[in-house]
Amino acid sequence: MEVELMKTEIDKVFDLQKTHSLNMRSSTAEERIGLLRSLHDWVLEHREDIKKAMYADYRKPYTETDITEIYPVLSEAKHTIKCLKNWMKTKRVPTPVTFLGTKAHIQFEPKGSSLIIAPWNYPFNLAICPLVSALSAGCTVMIKPSEMTPHTSALIKQMISELFSENLVSVIEGGLEASQLLLAKPFDHIFFTGSPMVGKIVMRSASDHLGSVTLELGGKSPVVIAPDADLKDAARKIASTKFINCGQTCVAPDFVLVPRSLRDEFVQNLNEAIDTLYSSDGQGVEKSADYGRIVNERHFNRLNQLVEEACKNGATLAKGGKNIPEENFIEPTILTMVKENMMVMEDEIFGPLLPIMDYENIDDALNFINKMPKPLALYAFSKSDKKLGYIFRKTSSGPAVSTDCV
Ligand code: NAD
Repeated sequence: MEVELMKTEIDKVFDLQKTHSLNMRSSTAEERIGLLRSLHDWVLEHREDIKKAMYADYRKPYTETDITEIYPVLSEAKHTIKCLKNWMKTKRVPTPVTFLGTKAHIQFEPKGSSLIIAPWNYPFNLAICPLVSALSAGCTVMIKPSEMTPHTSALIKQMISELFSENLVSVIEGGLEASQLLLAKPFDHIFFTGSPMVGKIVMRSASDHLGSVTLELGGKSPVVIAPDADLKDAARKIASTKFINCGQTCVAPDFVLVPRSLRDEFVQNLNEAIDTLYSSDGQGVEKSADYGRIVNERHFNRLNQLVEEACKNGATLAKGGKNIPEENFIEPTILTMVKENMMVMEDEIFGPLLPIMDYENIDDALNFINKMPKPLALYAFSKSDKKLGYIFRKTSSGPAVSTDCV
């Protein structure tokens, strides 16, 4: 769509929704539950279309779409349908002595008009789960799905136009221009999922209107293997969470810190775990129906450059190295002898590359984590609760997970 046309469309829908958001203030739990039911049923009925759209976008395996896109949306809708009446109830709260003789209560109200900007890596889930929240909270919603997954974005547009009037929910497709035009509007709340860099732009734009934001961003999520960890179990769990969606998961294990004396045994276990997952028939990962692809050529090239630079500076390729440019295929890749100044240790990897760094003393590993920006998530493997407690007390992160990942 041309920019001028897009602007006209956005201005029109924004005004319609602003007006309608006032009606939504008095919407009842039953009315909102009705909206959620119709959304839930549409998703259930169109499972095959959703799978096909994501396969067309980046060969996302059907089973992965079931588990990571369709199931989360259905369960989020179901949970909300079950709880909404209770969540909306006005709650009595005590007043302090200084207001003797008064009564107080908390009455929940919708924020008003909201905007959801979604990323491409779980393109359905991360656009529609926030929609469930926004509708249950009585907000109007404009959704901007990612331009990098056009088949899924078109399906989301179709779904929304079949289910809702545009003064309640509407989809604006497009890239940077669409985002910028939307961010110029005074939304009451913006829900953004994406990179930290664009998160800053969103927060800055919201501040122009003093709108509130929810930012779901990315980052590096380390795994710490303690000296007493069950290496086989750790390798199996790391492999299955790292390489799902071809490593393009915000909370995927980004790199592993392992005791030097256990490195080779751990890598051996990891190699075996990867083969069991994707090449148990010995045909190679590229033949597996369970392994996805990199979303586009730009990211394919970016990831290959990371491997090249690491190897040039002394890293060893302990697994991987195969890629197929015409398919944006990159094999699960393990790098050892990785150093902190390599490019692969700078930003979130967001692909099927797993650097392994070894350590002599666990405090060195934890100090290294503490020097980096706060991890989005942190994973630790040990047989001892005491050791796990030590790791989590000495670090700070988003979710901190014992003996598992993601
Ligand atoms: P991105 O930040 O590049 O894009 C996200 C959205 O912002 C897209 O819809 C895009 O069109 C829009 N956008 C891009 N540049 C913009 C700009 N300059 N101004 C305004 N809008 C702009 O992210 P992505 O590549 O789509 O997704 C990957 C990132 O998302 C990773 O960092 C990942 O960790 C993160 N992520 C986080 C979570 C979470 O829940 N924390 C979940 C999934 C992905």
